[in-house]
Amino acid sequence: MLPSLLAVAVLCCVACADSFQPDDLNNIVGEAMDLYRAHLDPNSKTPSLLPAENRTLASVNFDWAPTGSPPSYASWTMYFQQQQTYADLPVLTHCVDSTNVNVWGASFDDGPSENTHVVTDYFARKNMKATFWVIGSNVPAFPQALLDTFNAGHDIGIHTWTHAQLTDLSDDDIVSELVYGARAIYEVTGKMPKFFRPPYGEIDRRVRKIASSLGLEAVTWSHDTLDWSYVASGSTEQQVPDAFREWLQDGVTRAITLQHDIFEETVAAVPQSMDLLIDAGRTIVPLSTCLGIPSVFGNPTLEAFFASGLFENPYSGSPVPPPKHDGGGYSVGFVKGRKTVKAVRVDGPTKFDKSRSHFNGKRSNGAR
Ligand SMILES: [Zn+2]
Repeated sequence: MLPSLLAVAVLCCVACADSFQPDDLNNIVGEAMDLYRAHLDPNSKTPSLLPAENRTLASVNFDWAPTGSPPSYASWTMYFQQQQTYADLPVLTHCVDSTNVNVWGASFDDGPSENTHVVTDYFARKNMKATFWVIGSNVPAFPQALLDTFNAGHDIGIHTWTHAQLTDLSDDDIVSELVYGARAIYEVTGKMPKFFRPPYGEIDRRVRKIASSLGLEAVTWSHDTLDWSYVASGSTEQQVPDAFREWLQDGVTRAITLQHDIFEETVAAVPQSMDLLIDAGRTIVPLSTCLGIPSVFGNPTLEAFFASGLFENPYSGSPVPPPKHDGGGYSVGFVKGRKTVKAVRVDGPTKFDKSRSHFNGKRSNGAR
């Protein structure tokens, strides 16, 4: 990756700084910046984004997609901080729409995958909608699955780029995980998401604040099926419906439940589980209905960011921010919260079996 090469070049410059005069160092850094700019795609300032109704996979390209941990840029963090869109919103865990007490928000994490269609096919047969929290780095491998999910009318939200535990990351890396996650959804659907789900349900005040500066609101869940944890023992199709039976016996309503559309076993448990809800009089709804809002798409803050050209050219603008080279993050004022707001703590499927996922499972350069 060119930005990484640049960072290495600058690191070398800094490491050798003793033997250079300050002007020499400035020249070398300046030349490195020129080199970087010269390698930028001259057309990259024009987003390849078409209105949703015109989108096909033919117009989709992932030239911008990083492999592995995404690069992060202080300039992005500063941009969002300057938007001053922060509002201290609570993490959403339940359906708060008051018009129907029996609503139930079914949600599916960590796709798109080769198994997503099993879930969407079932929902199509039932004429119901759900919510899919997608890992950005899975999208280039399964764009059709995401497009089909979107075209079927399901709600879609960000689940980061690499399934990173956000509370462990620097401010810049959190911004990067969310920006690339949004970019993946935008590339395929032409819509900008306004909700995200933090991997493992791990979120604190700092993460909420940064996400809020991107116009994003956090949604976790009220009830976790732990479906991924039964795959190894082959008991998923029994354990998951059992969990739903128990919740229904307890009279649970307005729940947001967590399942996964990545494993054959976890998607196979979906029809029976959802049928139990239907038989018990629950109305399965996507997040938008759950929250009583018209749409989960449309994010003016992120739309303005991508229109600014800063995504393609993070070193543009004046003054040019220094490239990050110390691996320690670049805090521009987001205060690390002491109190962690946790949903149910789980070890997600990425920890369970990385080889069956399509992302590398590595954390971004978080410092802890
Ligand atoms: Zn997940």
